[in-house]
Amino acid sequence: MPPTLLLLNAPSAAATLPNREGTATFGTLSTGFLYPPHTLATTAASCRDRGIDVSVLDAVATRLDIDTCIARLRHLPPDIIGVLSSWGTLDADRTAIAAIRRAFPHTPLIALGAGIRYSADELLIAGATHVLLGDPELALAEMLQQPLPSPGLLRVRDILPQAHNHAGLLRHPQQLPRPAWELVPWQKYGFLTVFGSRGCDERCKYCAYVVAHGHSYRPRPSAAVADEMLWLQQTYQPARIMLRDPVFAVDRTHTMQLLKMLRQADFHTPWECESRPEHFDTDMLKKMAATGCTVIKLGIESADPQQLASLGRVLSANEAAHYLAYTRRVVADASRFGIRTRAFVMVGLPGQTLAQVQVTADYLRQLQPTFVHARPYVAYPHIPLGPAQPDAATRKLLTPLQTVADERHAIAQRRPGILQRLRLRLVRLWLRQFA
Ligand code: SF4
Repeated sequence: MPPTLLLLNAPSAAATLPNREGTATFGTLSTGFLYPPHTLATTAASCRDRGIDVSVLDAVATRLDIDTCIARLRHLPPDIIGVLSSWGTLDADRTAIAAIRRAFPHTPLIALGAGIRYSADELLIAGATHVLLGDPELALAEMLQQPLPSPGLLRVRDILPQAHNHAGLLRHPQQLPRPAWELVPWQKYGFLTVFGSRGCDERCKYCAYVVAHGHSYRPRPSAAVADEMLWLQQTYQPARIMLRDPVFAVDRTHTMQLLKMLRQADFHTPWECESRPEHFDTDMLKKMAATGCTVIKLGIESADPQQLASLGRVLSANEAAHYLAYTRRVVADASRFGIRTRAFVMVGLPGQTLAQVQVTADYLRQLQPTFVHARPYVAYPHIPLGPAQPDAATRKLLTPLQTVADERHAIAQRRPGILQRLRLRLVRLWLRQFA
């Protein structure tokens, strides 16, 4: 008999919510925004495909506390418990694992999640019997085909060497099954997610995405991505779909193919994506708008040329001028086609000064993205940039940028006037010729 497996997205005892998918599965604590647990839904699909009786308990979405989770587990009870964990939610993960271990001292308890490579020992000490290192989606299902190995650290590359690289990252994301969203209360998140690719070839020195998902861009075939988006539309009818690729538009040919397929297939669900500003162009944005793209996220990070160069975002201060000018064009084009823009910048970077922050604030005022998000820089493990500034200094640096963020937010909340509404309607009619 195959084992019964319960996959848990565990709660946090603190006021913040664990967003274990955040920062490319390195995880964060959130006061609002949460990604649906894509890793759990895909791992569940892969386990189910291999004959395992799997269920998911998403205590974050349903706001269950740990005692209620344990009561639910007692009701089942599963043969094996898998706990989604991440570096940024370590305290919440440890607390949950310790409580489950006390309640189920004889049940194997496997901590999993691509972002736990740097906190694995703490999870074992907290009470996990096994910690699965690397991308878990295929490896857990394979591992459960045999009797469980002795407790300790397990490497996905030892379990499925042909599927993972030396760091335990999936070589070919197209091997993954579609997520079993029906096992997850995804409606509580308000949207569904798709990974069209993993990794990125760039070398921005502050980037946690490439540490978590790899320094090489690995796209799925555009037809597979289009099929998955259509399948979500037909099967779940989400209010919107978020593409989780860190660089959605890096390969223009690939992106334009995907857009063509979506247009031909009558795809109409609003969708969002993220990429570097330089990856977009006027024609692409027009076609994105015509297929229902409503939001693009742009990591601008800073408008100070020296700082952009020192972050590895651009090669030189000279190149930064082009980068900032091109970003203006992208934001203006997106706005023209009815796509809203979210501009992300960082504060608390090593050596960052108030003058540099002020340059960025001035630039953002001229840029006029729909929203500005000023985020404290976090020095995730293995990031070459170095430590963040102390909290007090970061808070001081945040003030000018938060002011711009509040201004943009207030403007975005205003009800559009008659002329604006009319213009948007005309744009939509005009875009139909590209659909
Ligand atoms: S382009 Fe984006 S994903 Fe790639 S290294 Fe830079 S910040 Fe990271």
